[in-house]
Amino acid sequence: MSNISQDYQSSRIISYSPAYTLVPTHECYNRCTYCNFRVEPGQSPWMTPKEAQKRLEAISHQGVIEILILSGEVHPASSRRQAWLDRIYDLGKLALEQGYLPHTNAGPLSFEEMAKLKEVNVSMGLMLEQVTPRLLETVHRHAPSKLPQVRLQQLEWAGQLKIPFTTGLLLGIGESAADWEDSLKAIALSHRRWQHIQEVILQPHSPGSRQTWNAPSFDLQQLPAVVATARRILPPEITLQIPPNLITRSDILLACIEAGARDLGGIGPIDEVNPDYPHHHQIAAILAEARWQLTERLPIYPQYDHWLSEPLQKIVSKWRQNINID
Ligand code: SF4
Repeated sequence: MSNISQDYQSSRIISYSPAYTLVPTHECYNRCTYCNFRVEPGQSPWMTPKEAQKRLEAISHQGVIEILILSGEVHPASSRRQAWLDRIYDLGKLALEQGYLPHTNAGPLSFEEMAKLKEVNVSMGLMLEQVTPRLLETVHRHAPSKLPQVRLQQLEWAGQLKIPFTTGLLLGIGESAADWEDSLKAIALSHRRWQHIQEVILQPHSPGSRQTWNAPSFDLQQLPAVVATARRILPPEITLQIPPNLITRSDILLACIEAGARDLGGIGPIDEVNPDYPHHHQIAAILAEARWQLTERLPIYPQYDHWLSEPLQKIVSKWRQNINID
C-alpha cells in the first residue's frame, strides 16, 4: 500500500468525491455545543425511502458517485434505535440499487450494527475529533457519543470488520497542539493494527448560525502546520483530506496541499454539517493555476476493494471501468 500512496503523494493530483448527502434524520440525543446539524429527538421526521428515491432520481445526471448517508443519533437504549438503524440500512440499499456507492456516518454503532451496515456500504466513517477527555467538561459536556474511548472502540471494530474507514480531527474546539498529536497517534495505532484507515480529515471549527457555542473559527493560518504534523505521524498510505469550503483563503488551501493534503472530500450541493459554508466553484481553477490537477475518486480506495462482498465489488468495479479512476 505504501508504494501506491508514495506515487500518489509525489504526483500533482488532488482528488475529491462527487457526492450527494442523504440525511435519514437530523435528530440527535447529543448536544455538542458547536453543532449546526441537530434538532431535538422526535422533532425531525425521518427520511422515507420514497423521498430518498425521489432525490436520487433527481440527481441521476449530475455525475454523483458517492451517497453520503449522514445521520443524527438515536440513543442506543431507545426503543426506536432498531427502526433508525433499519432506515439507514434501507437508504444504503436503495442507493446501491440505483448504482451509487454509499458511505455512512451515523455516529457510534454497536459491533453488530456496524457489521449490518457494512452490507450496504463501500466504506464508513466517524470523526475521532480529539482524544483528550478535557472536552467532556466543555463542548462535549452533554454528548455521551463523544467519549474518546467510545470513538476509539469504533476504529477498532471497523478494523476487525474490514470496513474501509474515514476518520478525522475537529480542530479548534478547545484542544491543545499536543492533543492533535495524541489524536493522530491514536489513529495511527489503530491503523497499524488493522490497515483500515483510508483517509483522515482535518476539519477546522467554522462557526455556523445554529450553534450555541460562541467561539471563533479555528485559526486557518495554523492549518498547514497541522497537515504537516499529520503527514509526519500517520502512515503514508493514509490520505489527508481537507474541506475546501471551510478554508476560505486560497493561499492557505494551497499551503495545506504543499504540506501533504491530497483530497478535498465529498463535494456536493450542501455541506450538511456546515450549511453556512457552501462549496465554491473556483477550486479547480485555483488548483490548476498552481499546477495541481483535480480528479474524481470513489468513496473506497482501490486497495480495499477486496474487502467488499461480491455484489458490492461488482458495482465498484463497474465504476472503476466506466470512469477509469481509482
Ligand atoms: S455534532 Fe453530531 S453528535 Fe454532536 S450534536 Fe451534532 S449531530 Fe449530534
